[in-house]
Amino acid sequence: MSIVYLDGSYLPMAEAKISPMDRGFLFGDGIYEVVPSYNGQMVGFAPHIDRMNNGMNAIGIELGWSHQQWKAVCDSLIEKNGSGNLALYLHVSRGADTKRFHAYPEGVAPTVFAFAFEIPPAPVADKSKVVGYKVATSRDLRWERCQIKSTALLGNVMHFQHGYQQGANETLLYNERNELTEASACNAYIVKNGVVITPPLDNQILPGITRYILLDLLRKDGSIPVEERTVTMDEVFDADEVWVTSSSKEIVPVIEVDGKPINNGEIGDVWLAAQTIYSAGKLNY
Ligand code: PLP
Repeated sequence: MSIVYLDGSYLPMAEAKISPMDRGFLFGDGIYEVVPSYNGQMVGFAPHIDRMNNGMNAIGIELGWSHQQWKAVCDSLIEKNGSGNLALYLHVSRGADTKRFHAYPEGVAPTVFAFAFEIPPAPVADKSKVVGYKVATSRDLRWERCQIKSTALLGNVMHFQHGYQQGANETLLYNERNELTEASACNAYIVKNGVVITPPLDNQILPGITRYILLDLLRKDGSIPVEERTVTMDEVFDADEVWVTSSSKEIVPVIEVDGKPINNGEIGDVWLAAQTIYSAGKLNY
């Protein structure tokens, strides 16, 4: 039985109830995080909480929790749900109003909800064990504030579904200039001539915590050069390797884009080196 946190209480998932007037339900008016945890050890806890605070500041939700308060909730969920491979889902909505009115209400307490769900074991840097993704592509039709990790995910959901319906694992997104942005639930990268290249942080992409940890580790290691710059879709199709990253998956090699093989459909050597560096260093974040 999954034990969840809701507004100060720990209770079975089936007993957790929120008001239908909650603005998270009515408007998707909230911010969320997903923090991975392996055998009780979280990866990137502090940057995840910082990003959630940035999101709440951006949309004017005043919760005011410290890192310690979030840590206590995460630790309790790990303790109550078994400490295997878990993702901790943290969600703060603007709360339940008495009326449906677009303007931010005053004097309404945010709703805080958190639960743990099982994720696959952390990937190992082994070409024979990783399953490469086949991905579709789509023009990025989300909003112009993709740096905010909003619970209003319909745009992402529709892009994911576009690929899913074709049997793809993810959908790579590109803007009106044919430039790669990210994927529906991951950041995106190409590798060309040994250089890892990923679109720069701006309003078109989520500042992924896996992206942050990976780029930081690669730069500190120094053996694989990294560039943050615009990437065209022509470069994606011409890349030596393509990857996507997210907290619950780490670095996933892409072996096919729109039915066209990348690296002849083989997992690349730079992926192997980067996942090795990531696996060795991720628990320091
Ligand atoms: N981009 C989008 C749109 C996402 O939804 C996610 C994760 O959910 C990411 C990127 C990767 O972010 P992170 O590495 O923090 O999980």
